[in-house]
Amino acid sequence: MKATYGHWIGGREVVDAAASRMTTTSPVNGRTVASIPLGTSADVTAAVDAASDALAAWRDQTPAARGRLLTALSTAITDNATKLAELESAEAGKPDWLSPAEVANSALYFEFYGGLVHATHGETIDLGPGYHCFTQREPFGVVGVITPWNAPLNQAARAVAPALAAGNTVVIKPSEFTSATTLELARLATEIGLPPGVLNVVTGTGNEAGAALVRDSRVRKLAFTGSLRAGREIGKVAADRILPMTLELGGKSANIVFADADLDRAVAGSLRAFSANTGQTCTAGTRLLVQREIHDEFVSKLTAAAQELQIGQALGPVTTAAQYAKVHEYFDIARADGAVAALGGAPLTDPPAEGYFVPPTIYTGVHNDMRVAREEIFGPVVVVIPFDTEQEAVTIANDSEYGLAAGVWTTNVSRALTVAGQLEAGQVYVNTWLSPTVQTPFGGYKLSGYGREKGVEALQHYTQLKCVAVEL
Ligand code: NAD
Repeated sequence: MKATYGHWIGGREVVDAAASRMTTTSPVNGRTVASIPLGTSADVTAAVDAASDALAAWRDQTPAARGRLLTALSTAITDNATKLAELESAEAGKPDWLSPAEVANSALYFEFYGGLVHATHGETIDLGPGYHCFTQREPFGVVGVITPWNAPLNQAARAVAPALAAGNTVVIKPSEFTSATTLELARLATEIGLPPGVLNVVTGTGNEAGAALVRDSRVRKLAFTGSLRAGREIGKVAADRILPMTLELGGKSANIVFADADLDRAVAGSLRAFSANTGQTCTAGTRLLVQREIHDEFVSKLTAAAQELQIGQALGPVTTAAQYAKVHEYFDIARADGAVAALGGAPLTDPPAEGYFVPPTIYTGVHNDMRVAREEIFGPVVVVIPFDTEQEAVTIANDSEYGLAAGVWTTNVSRALTVAGQLEAGQVYVNTWLSPTVQTPFGGYKLSGYGREKGVEALQHYTQLKCVAVEL
């Protein structure tokens, strides 16, 4: 692994000595981790040139041949897991136990889609005698991918693996704060024999490199994961271009605990729901709806469990300075709105290091119309809202602009399935808060976005459907 990077274009590292650069720093202690070029529209053009040149040969390989390369890339990620995990921890600030799991999950994407290439197929449509009509799935061409900083390698693998499996070539622009593991992924891909130009990485800011990728008319499909703000900006450009997109945006997911739930299990799951990856998870369960008769007991158990999270070990720092400031800003907002901090809610007095450490925070006395209940904070902050009836719980849960995930904790299977059916969310977890998987389709309702990543569905989302009708 190296600390000074160029872009990865056409199967090689491209370094321009005159280019502007930025350094990334450790969120734990501020030390420099890597230096990346700040890509320009000319760099993006070069990457899209390379991806366009590589397209025909890659698209026309047999699916089996593409699958073998993706499987080999999965193995290469696993073989390099230790170094990739170290780099991910260094740049994103993830605790040492967390990054290996994310790297393993990244390898799984390439294994999964490396096998799934064999399952792509169309259908026949019966137009009656005298006709033969069928559909076939075809790649879009060059796919643009733009990723955030909260799970850098995972987000890259999640989009790149199905896009390549479907026969597209890719240009990816990772977050400027965490580009190193995506660059290493491209290097590994070239080392295992992925043809030059099939996977390209341009680093830099969203406003410059990201925007140039969205504007390039040769990019025929875009997968964006990030904030609602950026999703909206990109959507305006995409609307003019009629550019198909997958948008994976933010969330304010409701996690509903009924009085008949297994409380210890619900406490452990609810803690994980809002604190995993220091709350920097789009699916974080940050609105905790608790049935009134168990509210006080549940809050006290959850508070006790959260107090056990060792800051610096179980709970890493947030990744960026802006995110650190944002979490503290919400502490002020919550206080001003009258929320009561059962835990946290103020800057740490004894952080384990100089980095961006924030306390796990639990707010009670919250109404669903307060800003802390409506806006995505992206830190380990949960608001607890009491409810009386099943219908009230569903109404509060759905009273959000977002609709990414939701949780239901109950021992009553009829209630679990009824409520799951009524929740406006792309994924509902029952008696669990699911850790990342590759097999399950994933995406949002409402402002959380559209399109689906992961699962068989992602392979379909990276293809366009053609219908061929023949008169016999
Ligand atoms: P962000 O929107 O600021 O940045 C995401 C990416 O978009 C970065 O690579 C950035 O450089 C780029 N970008 C920003 N503005 C752009 C523009 N105008 N044109 C093109 N590219 C642009 O988001 P972030 O702060 O990096 O990530 C946090 C957000 O991501 C949260 O809102 C979180 O919920 C969301 N997220 C969603 C999912 C999901 O799957 N739904 C997963 C992870 C994160």
